[in-house]
Amino acid sequence: MEKAMTISYEIDDALYLNITNKCPCNCTFCIRNNGDGAYGSDPLWLEHQPTLEEIKADLAKRDLAAYRQIVFCGYGEPTCELELLKDTARYIKSVCKTPLRINTNGLSDLINKRDTAPEFAGLIDVVSISLNAPTKEEYEAVTRPSFKDADSFGAMLKFAQEVKKYVPQVMFTVVDIIGEDEIKRSQKVADSVGIHLRVREMITD
Ligand code: SF4
Repeated sequence: MEKAMTISYEIDDALYLNITNKCPCNCTFCIRNNGDGAYGSDPLWLEHQPTLEEIKADLAKRDLAAYRQIVFCGYGEPTCELELLKDTARYIKSVCKTPLRINTNGLSDLINKRDTAPEFAGLIDVVSISLNAPTKEEYEAVTRPSFKDADSFGAMLKFAQEVKKYVPQVMFTVVDIIGEDEIKRSQKVADSVGIHLRVREMITD
């Protein structure tokens, strides 16, 4: 018998969706390196790539309208499955008004080899992008992206500025462990492109 997969899990009053384990990065702080779950949820390693039908079947067990927010997040980069992400968002929008957020590394354009920002219009309400670090060198050291011939930091900044044209709320995040100096310099980068910076706590389990 197939093992149950954790496609969705609750944290406080939000529902988190785990639609893929793929990611082109290998961040030094990634929760995938720190155990099987996030915030005590069931293991988030998907034993196969879920289909839209499997995601819908999972969501059918939830009262989607009851959540404050539904977040594409999980153990992987949601834009690695951009069509599935959009189809899922479209489905959720057809059944409830709960705001949809994606937590992303901002590398969707490199992953999908096209300008993807317009594709989020009308489907996603909040985009939270991991800025991670204030310079290309520091960014690459911490996120270790697999795009060897591309400027991942530049692509992430460009995506952030583009997606702002299509999505009501866009923010950057850094984790608090990078220290005050890096946080200050990250704030300057965020200010230079007019995007709010959120400093979030490191997840260790
Ligand atoms: S971008 Fe996210 S999922 Fe990918 S390695 Fe970094 S922290 Fe992990």
